[in-house]
Amino acid sequence: MTIPSRRTFAIISHPDAGKTTLTEKLLLEGGAIHLAGEVKARGANRRARSDWMKIEQQRGISVTSSVMTFERGGIVFNLLDTPGHEDFSEDTYRTLTAVDSAVMVIDAAKGIEPQTRKLFEVCRLRNVPIVTFVNKVDREGRDPFDLLDEVADALALDVCPMSWPVGMGGQFEGIFDFASGTLRQPTGASKEFEGKAATFSGLEDAGLAGALSADGLARLREEGELAQGGYTSFDLAAYRHGDLTPVYFGSALKLFGVTELLDALSAYAPPPREQPAEPEAISPERPDVTGFIFKVQANMDPQHRDRIAFMRLCSGRFKRGMKLTPSGSGKPMAVHSPILFFAQDRELADEAYPGDIIGIPNHGTLRVGDTLSEKADVRITGLPNFAPEILRRVALKDPTKTKQLRKALDDLSEEGVIQVFYPEIGSQWIVGVVGQLQLEVLISRLEAEYKVEAVLEASPYDTARWLSGSDAALKGFTDINRSSLAKDRDGNPVFLAKSAWDVGYQQERNPEVKFSATKER
Ligand code: GDP
Repeated sequence: MTIPSRRTFAIISHPDAGKTTLTEKLLLEGGAIHLAGEVKARGANRRARSDWMKIEQQRGISVTSSVMTFERGGIVFNLLDTPGHEDFSEDTYRTLTAVDSAVMVIDAAKGIEPQTRKLFEVCRLRNVPIVTFVNKVDREGRDPFDLLDEVADALALDVCPMSWPVGMGGQFEGIFDFASGTLRQPTGASKEFEGKAATFSGLEDAGLAGALSADGLARLREEGELAQGGYTSFDLAAYRHGDLTPVYFGSALKLFGVTELLDALSAYAPPPREQPAEPEAISPERPDVTGFIFKVQANMDPQHRDRIAFMRLCSGRFKRGMKLTPSGSGKPMAVHSPILFFAQDRELADEAYPGDIIGIPNHGTLRVGDTLSEKADVRITGLPNFAPEILRRVALKDPTKTKQLRKALDDLSEEGVIQVFYPEIGSQWIVGVVGQLQLEVLISRLEAEYKVEAVLEASPYDTARWLSGSDAALKGFTDINRSSLAKDRDGNPVFLAKSAWDVGYQQERNPEVKFSATKER
């Protein structure tokens, strides 16, 4: 079977770096939308349909990751949106488990910002290859060498500049592409890229003098030579292994660097990768269908408990109506109305291939981390839970609702909305999240779906670690730390820590015990 080429990727960035703008321009370039500005507008309309998602309207942010698909040059691109707000949730992290590569957008004036780094760390867990896009060169920015060095130092990556900005801000005269010798330049009052491009034999080409100011030319020659000589040259294997990042300079707003970025993704970004699984890894060439759920979006309609589970297809050729068995329930289900997320609209999917994402409507049978398979003989691994960064005690307004609360917390943690911890001592349950927003979602869903009114109270804990090790080592630790111990939903032992320092301290004193910041589901 030949597999149509797929590039399944996400954009990681700090808020305001330009992810939305770049997304629009990529979709525009890919022909998926015709007017820039549609991404946010359309999203807002769609979201208006759901009730608890009011939170996201009020706060003007997107709780839910969506999927955008477009085709260019015979390649199908699946762009998975990772919510970019500071209050991101585990969904953001998990979305990155469903991609084969990522684009890291950096604001040229700001460099690496906290959220870029966090998301990068998640990519690194799985060696997800990263293409870097330094955005906003049409504005005054930092020295490009500084930016490259910062990426290299802060993220411990080899960097390879693939293109170079001739000046920035008021001095910006274009972007020079090293490999092809193409110079793309701004035109008109808007200073956008409107197709003004010429190709030269290299930095020494005399023709460049006709295109650039004397200053601009001198600068490009000097900096360009240093840039090419001073950094590692591009190495496909190192990129695909997540050790090297090619760096493109551009301006999403003015359409610079967008074509180059798509060309790079087409040429270098990996097609669907092998997925870690038991009993053995799943190759995309495998003929039978396998996939995993990386996200569940609940309550699209609050009157019904329907959900959309997002499945990343790992192997086989999916056809509508096909029977797949979820690893959670073990009961085969026919997938009659799968959804493909085209940028234009949601469309009913007839077929999908490895690397594609399909939405499967269900009533709560599908859980995050479930493997779906034709033969029910595999389990895809590597979808972790991430250590929560916010821990709160749950208190009931009506104490007779304990049973309902327990059920709700178990359900919602299985769905991946929150994590729940049941302390060894004391009766107050603890919920953990990685972003504040998840707490608001929790409270509104408890009320809307479970008719449970609860409040969240401060807890003395700052983070949690899953414990593993030999029985003796674990017992040694747990015997003296009982007051900081809890069980997660599956009964695994968890250490509730007062601070990251606390984790380090305990780790030092208990070298035989493993304190894990992630747990595989
Ligand atoms: P996001 O939060 O990462 O999705 O960022 P947005 O795409 O919403 O962009 C944040 C702001 O930066 C908006 O005002 C954009 O118009 C602006 N912006 C994005 N890209 C560029 C660019 O290349 N140049 C300039 N000058 N502004 C940009």
